[in-house]
Amino acid sequence: MSATEQRIAELSANLEQVRGAIVQATVDVGRDPSSITLVAITKNRPVADVLALAALGVTDFGENRDQEARAKHEQCGELAVTWHFVGQLQRNKAASVARYADIVESVDREALVEALARGAQRAGRSVGVALQVDLGNDPAAGRAGVAPQAVLALADTLARWPQLSLRGLMAVAPLGVDPRGPFDRLYELARQLQGEHPAATMISAGMSSDMAAAIAAGATHVRIGTALLGPRRAAELT
Ligand SMILES: *Cc1c(COP(=O)(O)O)cnc(C)c1O
Repeated sequence: MSATEQRIAELSANLEQVRGAIVQATVDVGRDPSSITLVAITKNRPVADVLALAALGVTDFGENRDQEARAKHEQCGELAVTWHFVGQLQRNKAASVARYADIVESVDREALVEALARGAQRAGRSVGVALQVDLGNDPAAGRAGVAPQAVLALADTLARWPQLSLRGLMAVAPLGVDPRGPFDRLYELARQLQGEHPAATMISAGMSSDMAAAIAAGATHVRIGTALLGPRRAAELT
Protein backbone atom coordinates (compact mmCIF):
# COMPACT_ATOMS: atom_id res chain seq x y z
CA MET A 1 0.00 0.00 0.00
CA SER A 2 1.34 3.45 -0.87
CA ALA A 3 1.35 6.19 1.76
CA THR A 4 -1.60 7.79 -0.03
CA GLU A 5 -3.61 4.56 -0.05
CA GLN A 6 -2.77 4.04 3.59
CA ARG A 7 -4.00 7.53 4.50
CA ILE A 8 -7.23 7.01 2.57
CA ALA A 9 -7.83 3.71 4.37
CA GLU A 10 -7.20 5.46 7.71
CA LEU A 11 -9.58 8.32 6.91
CA SER A 12 -12.19 5.88 5.68
CA ALA A 13 -12.03 3.88 8.92
CA ASN A 14 -12.17 7.06 11.04
CA LEU A 15 -15.13 8.34 9.05
CA GLU A 16 -16.98 5.08 9.51
CA GLN A 17 -16.41 5.33 13.28
CA VAL A 18 -17.54 8.93 13.49
CA ARG A 19 -20.64 8.24 11.41
CA GLY A 20 -21.39 5.27 13.64
CA ALA A 21 -21.01 7.43 16.73
CA ILE A 22 -23.38 10.03 15.27
CA VAL A 23 -25.99 7.36 14.53
CA GLN A 24 -25.62 5.96 18.05
CA ALA A 25 -25.87 9.40 19.68
CA THR A 26 -29.02 10.24 17.74
CA VAL A 27 -30.68 6.88 18.32
CA ASP A 28 -29.92 7.19 22.05
CA VAL A 29 -32.05 10.32 22.26
CA GLY A 30 -34.66 9.48 19.62
CA ARG A 31 -33.36 11.81 16.93
CA ASP A 32 -33.01 11.15 13.21
CA PRO A 33 -29.34 10.70 12.16
CA SER A 34 -30.04 12.68 8.99
CA SER A 35 -30.75 15.74 11.14
CA ILE A 36 -27.00 16.03 11.88
CA THR A 37 -24.46 17.50 9.46
CA LEU A 38 -20.87 16.39 9.94
CA VAL A 39 -18.43 19.25 9.39
CA ALA A 40 -14.87 17.96 8.97
CA ILE A 41 -12.43 20.41 10.55
CA THR A 42 -9.33 20.18 8.39
CA LYS A 43 -7.19 22.94 9.90
CA ASN A 44 -3.47 22.11 9.85
CA ARG A 45 -4.14 19.20 7.48
CA PRO A 46 -3.12 18.88 3.86
CA VAL A 47 -5.59 19.50 1.07
CA ALA A 48 -5.20 15.83 0.10
CA ASP A 49 -7.15 14.98 3.27
CA VAL A 50 -9.99 17.28 2.17
CA LEU A 51 -10.11 15.67 -1.27
CA ALA A 52 -10.00 12.16 0.21
CA LEU A 53 -12.83 12.87 2.67
CA ALA A 54 -14.90 14.54 -0.05
CA ALA A 55 -14.45 11.44 -2.20
CA LEU A 56 -15.70 9.41 0.78
CA GLY A 57 -18.86 11.52 0.89
CA VAL A 58 -18.11 14.29 3.39
CA THR A 59 -19.97 17.41 2.21
CA ASP A 60 -18.93 20.07 4.73
CA PHE A 61 -15.47 21.30 5.68
CA GLY A 62 -14.33 23.81 8.28
CA GLU A 63 -11.16 25.85 8.62
CA ASN A 64 -10.05 28.38 11.22
CA ARG A 65 -7.41 30.54 9.50
CA ASP A 66 -8.05 32.71 6.47
CA GLN A 67 -4.78 32.12 4.69
CA GLU A 68 -4.95 28.34 4.96
CA ALA A 69 -8.65 28.21 4.17
CA ARG A 70 -8.26 30.40 1.09
CA ALA A 71 -5.39 28.28 -0.24
CA LYS A 72 -7.31 25.03 0.27
CA HIS A 73 -10.41 26.45 -1.33
CA GLU A 74 -8.37 27.43 -4.39
CA GLN A 75 -6.67 24.04 -4.57
CA CYS A 76 -10.02 22.28 -4.43
CA GLY A 77 -11.27 24.15 -7.47
CA GLU A 78 -14.87 23.37 -8.28
CA LEU A 79 -15.25 20.69 -5.61
CA ALA A 80 -18.93 20.84 -4.66
CA VAL A 81 -18.68 21.07 -0.88
CA THR A 82 -19.79 23.61 1.71
CA TRP A 83 -16.99 25.65 3.30
CA HIS A 84 -17.37 26.74 6.91
CA PHE A 85 -15.13 29.26 8.61
CA VAL A 86 -14.93 28.49 12.34
CA GLY A 87 -11.96 30.51 13.61
CA GLN A 88 -11.68 33.82 15.38
CA LEU A 89 -11.97 36.37 12.65
CA GLN A 90 -10.23 39.72 12.49
CA ARG A 91 -12.09 42.52 10.84
CA ASN A 92 -9.38 43.05 8.23
CA LYS A 93 -9.71 39.40 7.12
CA ALA A 94 -13.48 39.45 6.77
CA ALA A 95 -13.53 40.56 3.14
CA SER A 96 -11.15 37.77 2.20
CA VAL A 97 -13.26 35.15 3.99
CA ALA A 98 -16.39 36.49 2.30
CA ARG A 99 -14.92 35.54 -1.09
CA TYR A 100 -14.93 31.79 -0.46
CA ALA A 101 -16.75 30.84 2.76
CA ASP A 102 -20.31 29.56 2.48
CA ILE A 103 -21.00 29.84 6.22
CA VAL A 104 -19.00 31.91 8.69
CA GLU A 105 -19.68 30.41 12.12
CA SER A 106 -17.62 32.76 14.23
CA VAL A 107 -19.39 36.11 13.96
CA ASP A 108 -19.62 37.69 17.39
CA ARG A 109 -19.72 41.47 16.95
CA GLU A 110 -21.25 44.22 14.86
CA ALA A 111 -18.00 45.39 13.27
CA LEU A 112 -17.54 41.90 11.84
CA VAL A 113 -21.10 41.80 10.50
CA GLU A 114 -20.52 44.99 8.57
CA ALA A 115 -17.07 43.98 7.27
CA LEU A 116 -18.41 40.60 6.09
CA ALA A 117 -21.44 42.16 4.43
CA ARG A 118 -19.32 44.67 2.53
CA GLY A 119 -16.90 41.93 1.49
CA ALA A 120 -19.76 39.73 0.29
CA GLN A 121 -21.21 42.64 -1.63
CA ARG A 122 -17.90 43.32 -3.38
CA ALA A 123 -17.55 39.62 -4.20
CA GLY A 124 -21.12 39.45 -5.49
CA ARG A 125 -21.88 36.61 -3.10
CA SER A 126 -24.31 35.73 -0.39
CA VAL A 127 -22.69 34.44 2.81
CA GLY A 128 -24.33 32.41 5.56
CA VAL A 129 -23.61 33.38 9.14
CA ALA A 130 -23.88 31.62 12.47
CA LEU A 131 -23.42 33.77 15.54
CA GLN A 132 -20.81 32.41 17.93
CA VAL A 133 -22.06 32.46 21.50
CA ASP A 134 -19.81 32.64 24.54
CA LEU A 135 -21.13 29.93 26.86
CA GLY A 136 -18.39 30.47 29.39
CA ASN A 137 -19.92 33.37 31.25
CA ASP A 138 -16.41 34.37 32.13
CA PRO A 139 -15.51 37.77 30.66
CA ALA A 140 -12.04 37.56 32.18
CA ALA A 141 -11.22 34.59 30.00
CA GLY A 142 -11.50 36.74 26.90
CA ARG A 143 -13.17 33.91 25.05
CA ALA A 144 -14.59 34.41 21.59
CA GLY A 145 -18.32 34.77 21.22
CA VAL A 146 -21.15 37.17 21.86
CA ALA A 147 -22.69 37.16 25.33
CA PRO A 148 -25.98 35.20 25.39
CA GLN A 149 -27.99 38.28 26.33
CA ALA A 150 -26.65 40.16 23.29
CA VAL A 151 -27.44 37.49 20.67
CA LEU A 152 -30.87 38.76 19.61
CA ALA A 153 -29.65 42.33 19.09
CA LEU A 154 -26.72 41.12 16.99
CA ALA A 155 -29.10 38.96 14.94
CA ASP A 156 -31.29 41.99 14.25
CA THR A 157 -28.26 43.96 13.08
CA LEU A 158 -27.25 41.14 10.76
CA ALA A 159 -30.74 40.86 9.30
CA ARG A 160 -30.39 44.38 7.90
CA TRP A 161 -27.69 43.23 5.44
CA PRO A 162 -29.17 41.45 2.39
CA GLN A 163 -25.77 39.89 1.54
CA LEU A 164 -25.78 37.87 4.77
CA SER A 165 -28.21 35.14 5.74
CA LEU A 166 -28.56 34.23 9.38
CA ARG A 167 -28.31 30.44 9.75
CA GLY A 168 -28.21 30.06 13.53
CA LEU A 169 -25.76 29.72 16.41
CA MET A 170 -22.37 28.18 17.08
CA ALA A 171 -20.56 27.55 20.34
CA VAL A 172 -17.59 25.81 21.85
CA ALA A 173 -18.22 24.25 25.26
CA PRO A 174 -16.24 25.89 28.07
CA LEU A 175 -13.22 23.91 29.16
CA GLY A 176 -13.27 21.76 32.24
CA VAL A 177 -17.01 21.60 32.92
CA ASP A 178 -19.75 19.15 32.01
CA PRO A 179 -20.83 20.44 28.57
CA ARG A 180 -24.49 19.46 29.00
CA GLY A 181 -25.53 22.59 30.89
CA PRO A 182 -23.88 24.97 28.40
CA PHE A 183 -25.26 23.02 25.41
CA ASP A 184 -28.77 23.15 26.92
CA ARG A 185 -28.44 26.92 27.29
CA LEU A 186 -27.36 27.16 23.67
CA TYR A 187 -30.45 25.21 22.58
CA GLU A 188 -32.73 27.48 24.60
CA LEU A 189 -31.11 30.52 23.00
CA ALA A 190 -31.49 28.98 19.54
CA ARG A 191 -35.22 28.52 20.17
CA GLN A 192 -35.55 32.16 21.15
CA LEU A 193 -33.65 33.19 18.04
CA GLN A 194 -35.86 31.04 15.82
CA GLY A 195 -38.90 32.75 17.28
CA GLU A 196 -37.75 35.94 15.54
CA HIS A 197 -35.70 34.48 12.68
CA PRO A 198 -37.38 31.19 11.67
CA ALA A 199 -34.74 30.30 9.08
CA ALA A 200 -31.96 30.35 11.68
CA THR A 201 -32.14 26.63 12.44
CA MET A 202 -28.46 25.77 12.66
CA ILE A 203 -27.00 24.77 16.03
CA SER A 204 -23.30 24.11 15.57
CA ALA A 205 -22.04 22.45 18.74
CA GLY A 206 -19.91 19.47 19.59
CA MET A 207 -16.34 18.54 18.75
CA SER A 208 -14.56 15.19 18.92
CA SER A 209 -14.70 15.01 22.73
CA ASP A 210 -18.28 16.19 23.35
CA MET A 211 -20.18 15.27 20.21
CA ALA A 212 -22.72 12.98 21.86
CA ALA A 213 -23.60 15.57 24.52
CA ALA A 214 -24.13 18.17 21.80
CA ILE A 215 -26.38 15.86 19.80
CA ALA A 216 -28.39 15.07 22.93
CA ALA A 217 -28.83 18.82 23.43
CA GLY A 218 -30.15 19.41 19.91
CA ALA A 219 -27.08 20.20 17.77
CA THR A 220 -27.65 20.16 14.01
CA HIS A 221 -23.96 20.46 13.07
CA VAL A 222 -20.96 18.78 14.73
CA ARG A 223 -17.44 20.03 14.01
CA ILE A 224 -15.05 17.10 14.09
CA GLY A 225 -11.27 17.30 13.66
CA THR A 226 -9.24 14.85 15.71
CA ALA A 227 -11.65 11.90 15.58
CA LEU A 228 -11.67 12.04 11.79
CA LEU A 229 -8.14 13.05 10.96
CA GLY A 230 -6.19 11.69 13.90
CA PRO A 231 -4.20 13.60 16.50
CA ARG A 232 -2.46 16.67 15.16
CA ARG A 233 1.28 16.14 15.09
CA ALA A 234 3.38 18.75 16.88
CA ALA A 235 5.12 19.75 13.64
CA GLU A 236 1.75 20.62 12.11
CA LEU A 237 0.69 22.92 14.92
CA THR A 238 1.32 26.44 13.82
C1 LIG B 1 -10.40 22.60 15.93
C2 LIG B 1 -11.82 22.94 16.10
C3 LIG B 1 -12.80 21.93 16.14
C4 LIG B 1 -12.47 20.45 16.07
O1 LIG B 1 -11.89 20.02 17.27
P1 LIG B 1 -11.54 18.48 17.54
O2 LIG B 1 -11.43 18.40 19.00
O3 LIG B 1 -10.22 18.24 16.85
O4 LIG B 1 -12.62 17.65 16.98
C5 LIG B 1 -14.12 22.33 16.27
N1 LIG B 1 -14.46 23.63 16.35
C6 LIG B 1 -13.56 24.63 16.32
C7 LIG B 1 -14.02 26.03 16.43
C8 LIG B 1 -12.21 24.31 16.19
O5 LIG B 1 -11.30 25.31 16.18
